Formats: sequence, C-alpha cells, structure tokens
Amino acid sequence: MTKQCVYCGAFEADTFDHIPPKGIFSQPRPNNLITVPACRQCHNDETSKDDEYFRLALQVRDGIDTHPDVIKARPTLLRSLQNPRKLGMRNALLKNIVLTELVTPSGIFIKKQLAIQTDMKRLSRVMSRTMKGLFYHHNKYRLPDGYDARVIDQDSFQKWPANDREVYEKMINQILARPGVTIGNGVFTYRFGFNTNDPNDTCWIFVFYGQAGFLGRTFPQVKPSA
Ligand SMILES: [Zn+2]
Repeated sequence: MTKQCVYCGAFEADTFDHIPPKGIFSQPRPNNLITVPACRQCHNDETSKDDEYFRLALQVRDGIDTHPDVIKARPTLLRSLQNPRKLGMRNALLKNIVLTELVTPSGIFIKKQLAIQTDMKRLSRVMSRTMKGLFYHHNKYRLPDGYDARVIDQDSFQKWPANDREVYEKMINQILARPGVTIGNGVFTYRFGFNTNDPNDTCWIFVFYGQAGFLGRTFPQVKPSA
C-alpha cells in the first residue's frame, strides 16, 4: 500500500481504519463498512481506546439500549463493563454521561445529543476522524491541511459570526431535506453537504442507532485574531 494517511498526510498509510468504529455494529457485521488508509501514528492504541469508549458511551444510553444491534452486543458490553481492567473506563463513563437537548432558536440542532461532560473531547476525536475519513471516502482526496474537522455544539455555534451561522444553517437544512446514507440495521446514518463557495467547507450530520446525533463541520482553521 503506498497511499497517504488520510489523517496526517505526512506518512504512508500502512493500516486501514474503520469509520465509524466497527465495534458499534453487531456480529455478523455488514459487508459495506467503510475503511480509509491510515498510518500507525494516527491509527493506534489510543484511537482504538477512543473507539471503544465511543461504543460504550453510546450503547449504555437510554433509548439506544433497545436497538437490536445493541441488544445483540449486550453480553459483550456487560463483559466489557465488568472487566476489572476496564474499571477506569467504566467509572469515566458513569461519571460523565449527561443528556442534553440540542435545540437552537433556529431549530437546526437535532433533538437529543449525547454529551459527556469531561469526555466530550474523546467522542469528538472519534467524530473528527469519522468526518475526515468520510470526506476522503467521498472526495477521493484528504481534507487539506489548514482545515479542521469538528463537532459543533450549541455553545460554540452561538459564538460564530452571524453570517457564518447562516451559511452553516443553510447547508444543514439542505442536507436534512435529503435522505441519508445508512450502514447496518439503522446503526449509523450520515448526511453531508458542501459550501458552494468552498468545497472543503462541509457540514455533516451523524446519527447513531437512530438516536444519538452529532453535527460536524470541516472548515478553515481560524487564525488567531490580533
Ligand atoms: Zn497519519
């Protein structure tokens, strides 16, 4: 394999990374899972732990625990949570999960989102990799350097300049009107759209198990203002 890593672009890819994490799909897994080329610096033990955390955080959530794929995964989930070596992960989960309603005045945020108070960062890292991976999957080139892939929460959204919020809302409303792509039995659905002025400025909606939603965007990194 001589492909460039889709995440850093600095190294040759010597692995394939599943996006989103394959652990969220129960066995037998669908045969159309998406993988992207990644180097071992960007696809390592830490990212695997993030993926596992992401799966656990979703699967213990109210409303999601009745999804057929989650019911099938329950024995593994319980084993995972009872594993003394994973005590740290279990405690981190129980301490930090909160549910937040995500409704902005304009109503663009999806109804409910899983938020992890201190570890939203960890979920965001997984979502960021998923966005970069899907960007590559669809465009056949990696998200250029100088662009960020971020989960958008209500607080950060409110701080954007008004014209930027408008652009984003327009993109989101457009993609909400179209059907999404679903992988697995309703396990993962995604939608995305482009800013007509900048094809690398993209917006994303991810929904897991028909319940937990994330909004994301790839956009030029903001230069520190003087
Ligand atoms: Zn890399």
